[in-house]
Amino acid sequence: MVKKIRVTIWNEFVHEKNDAAVKKVYPDGIHNAIAQGLKKEMGFIIQTATLEQPEHGLTEKVLKNTDVLFWWGHMAHGQVDDEIVKRIHQKILDGMGLVVLHSGHFSKIFRRLMGTNCSLTWRVADEREIVWNIAPSHPIAQGIAGSFELPGSEMYGERFDIPEPDQLLFVSWYEGGNVFRSGCTFKRGNGKIFYFSPGHETYPIFYDKTILRILANSARWAYSPIRLSTNDVPNQKTPLAPITKRKPI
Ligand code: ZN
Repeated sequence: MVKKIRVTIWNEFVHEKNDAAVKKVYPDGIHNAIAQGLKKEMGFIIQTATLEQPEHGLTEKVLKNTDVLFWWGHMAHGQVDDEIVKRIHQKILDGMGLVVLHSGHFSKIFRRLMGTNCSLTWRVADEREIVWNIAPSHPIAQGIAGSFELPGSEMYGERFDIPEPDQLLFVSWYEGGNVFRSGCTFKRGNGKIFYFSPGHETYPIFYDKTILRILANSARWAYSPIRLSTNDVPNQKTPLAPITKRKPI
């Protein structure tokens, strides 16, 4: 039997409660929209977590039982406790997968993992976005056309201040002329990371079938069957083979 992948979808869940325009699009929160979409795919056990929960819903136990963590945040990055960020970071280094969505580029966890500012330029002007699939053989791009269009989107533009990705999967073009590296993979320690930019809170992007397929593929890709701590490695006093005593030079 194929093991089910345990996905935890984290959302700061602030806009949806205090902004009528966002509430209209995501009445139950972006995390629940993504959860509903992923539930239609086989092979996942899905739970959600939000900022307001104790320990932001990301206790040791929750993270221990999470294979892949999804992250959506925008206006409350600063409210995420540094101790929790440290905990998530170690879990990723041990092999937990991470999928960072849209404005999560400025989250504490993503910036910590990247080691750069992760800044970019942006514009909310209700413009077309064409997402180009430039790595069609990659597992995350399975079932995705060569390009697809989002009729209304927020522009995220270069230069995106990230280290060189391990692989660039998607490149976006916007009606206003900008381009963006919209799908990038990274590895940190034993953990796989995918950053995906579509998903502004006033657009119904997380109901889009193509977007949900990419998110499902990314969860499968980021899953690692092995969690191995890179933090607590003992020294090896006893050599594997005898070491010949050498005369001093
Ligand atoms: Zn946005």
